[in-house]
Amino acid sequence: LASRAFKEEGTIVKIGDLELGGSEIQVMAGPCAVESREQLLESARLVKAAGATMLRGGAFKPRTSPYSFQGLEEEGLKLLAEARDLTGLKIVTEVMDASTIPMVAEYADVLQIGTRNMQNFFLLREVAKVNKPVILKRGVSATIEEWLMAAEYIMAGGNYNVILCERGIRTYETFTRNTLDLSAVPVIKHLSHLPVIVDPSHAIGKWRFVAPMAAAAVAAGADGLLIEVHPNPAEALCDGPQSLTPSNFEALMKELNGVAGVF
Ligand code: PEP
Ligand code: MN
Repeated sequence: LASRAFKEEGTIVKIGDLELGGSEIQVMAGPCAVESREQLLESARLVKAAGATMLRGGAFKPRTSPYSFQGLEEEGLKLLAEARDLTGLKIVTEVMDASTIPMVAEYADVLQIGTRNMQNFFLLREVAKVNKPVILKRGVSATIEEWLMAAEYIMAGGNYNVILCERGIRTYETFTRNTLDLSAVPVIKHLSHLPVIVDPSHAIGKWRFVAPMAAAAVAAGADGLLIEVHPNPAEALCDGPQSLTPSNFEALMKELNGVAGVF
């Protein structure tokens, strides 16, 4: 179902009035985690002002350490919904566990499956039953074939609105958090009709390198970007080092207009 051989023309995933996979590049931006009302509403306001169309933010966080901030859960989802009401931005947030799908789906416009759950086949089968688009992040050590098979699980279960997200894979390089596999963008476009977006923030892990790789992703043919932005990255409870400041995000959005215009 995910293959280009099965369906020749590219799929456009509709998110309300937005189209992902069409002629416009959609930018989803916001903090790694929803931390507080002030932090989230400020993030929403600033990413909207800079030109983003969707707000990201985790309410359930898959943290490496059990002692790290785990997210505000339903309280965070409510804040995301409030931010949508105030700004009109569409909401993207991660669902980590099948038991919380109904709750997350009640608030979110798009469900995100994180890299650590790409091959959680039970979870994939369950999100397949939800009538909302799903962003499927590439597993940290998944091949393109495995990633497409994970998308196939969601589609086989009846949900065709799958958006693939390249977010970096683990290699021997340690200077960056992961290695952004930009070649995945044209390869996915060749193998599949599904839209593909790029998350340079988690791929690189250092804010300084996010903007050039975001521009490169657009040049490579990505249909959208997922970018971490925080009103004050130094105080972030999660992923501060890779989060753009408001002014860096604004600069990136201006630069992208140029890149998108060229390609
Ligand atoms: C995220 O987008 O907040 C996230 C946890 O990403 P990933 O699953 O790619 O690590
Ligand atoms: Mn993050």
